[in-house]
Amino acid sequence: MSNRLTSTPNDLRAFWMPFTANRQFKKAPRLFVGAKDMYYTTHDGRQVLDGTAGLWCVNAGHCRPQITEAIREQAGELDYAPAFQLGHPKAFELANRLVDIAPDGMSHVFYTNSGSESVDTALKIALAYQRVKGEGTRTRLIGRERGYHGINFGGMSVGGIVGNRKMFGTLLAGVDHIRHTHQPDKNAFTKGQPEYGAELADDLERLVNLHDASTIAAVIVEPVAGSTGVLIPPKGYLQRLREICDKYGILLIFDEVITGFGRLGTPFATQYFDVKPDIITTAKGLTNGVIPMGAVFVTSEIHDAFMTGPEHLIEFAHGYTYSGNPIASAAGIGTLNTYRDEGLLTRASELAPYWEEQLHSLRDCPNVIDIRNIGLIGAIELAPIAGEPTKRAFNAFLKAYEDGLLIRTTGDIIALSPPLIITKDQIDELFGKLRKVLLNNI
Ligand code: PMP
Repeated sequence: MSNRLTSTPNDLRAFWMPFTANRQFKKAPRLFVGAKDMYYTTHDGRQVLDGTAGLWCVNAGHCRPQITEAIREQAGELDYAPAFQLGHPKAFELANRLVDIAPDGMSHVFYTNSGSESVDTALKIALAYQRVKGEGTRTRLIGRERGYHGINFGGMSVGGIVGNRKMFGTLLAGVDHIRHTHQPDKNAFTKGQPEYGAELADDLERLVNLHDASTIAAVIVEPVAGSTGVLIPPKGYLQRLREICDKYGILLIFDEVITGFGRLGTPFATQYFDVKPDIITTAKGLTNGVIPMGAVFVTSEIHDAFMTGPEHLIEFAHGYTYSGNPIASAAGIGTLNTYRDEGLLTRASELAPYWEEQLHSLRDCPNVIDIRNIGLIGAIELAPIAGEPTKRAFNAFLKAYEDGLLIRTTGDIIALSPPLIITKDQIDELFGKLRKVLLNNI
């Protein structure tokens, strides 16, 4: 198919697009045919500033030479090696490199092919670990309302988005949810972490009182919930969750699929918040979004339990045909090299003050009811149009796209997460365009 793909229904007939209203899209398609650094090129030849790093993943910007080269070289050298009982050096090299930048205490990584697979892998590691330790009654999993943990059965079950759950029946048994932390009445227009809401972590203790700790394996949260509109943890909240987990022997899983790889100005949000989980899930920025790959980080305590546990449980019965795929591993190494050489894992902390100032300067625009930010993430919440929730933000998305800016929306919230290579001039361009959109009576 050429770059000249038109919008005739015939061109677009066979692809059933994910998380997209296909009927609407195919009437007025938006297609990218190229990308370089901070900009996409559209099929009608326009430049679009990437305000979202693709889907929160292209942290180093687009078509970066070290990544492209690494993939090219690996594809000509070793394209595939079986993932079970056999290996290849790049998967080991990448794992060592990942552990080097990981939070203290994380000693091993288990490879997957996506964020959803990382989440389901993490949940399975948690269940198996409890069993290996002799605590097999701990089978209950706890998630959080408004959590997004991908779309496989485990992640969907611990996730808290009704729209993603309601089509699929009863989901996993033995799952509970704590409340989300979004309190716009108390925390609107907060810069950074909100003051109010740490006590919401005590929901976990209520579930312990209801079910008994001996039945609970793990709790999973995103340190910053991204997909449901950028919900930033209140001060002290994550610490409180950690304390309750410690008190009751519950594993704490941080889903860092969005926050991993420099989004907050530290390699992982775990380091930013200085709260240590037992398991971390990642994907996206691991390969700069270029090749599907995820990685689950575990502590040495968890890993060693499998190495020294009962003989009949010696092998963790889980893995994928493409776990640690050579080309994905090469892409991961090329990505880490780019992050290292350009200082990208800490760059968000340098840009964050300017980002915050420019983002909050939109407060005077019509219909803006909240603005929030952390690291190189921002959200603008708009007043919903009566009877038509989501319409205002979606209109903003369409207008921004026409004006050469890519934003992401969820409900009536605009979410921003540009590649970490963004310059101050490009931050000005982003917010200049967005101001125009918001002033344009959407
Ligand atoms: N967890 C979180 C926190 C995410 O944000 C996402 C994707 N946005 C996922 C899991 C799922 O990742 P994927 O789409 O790669 O399966």
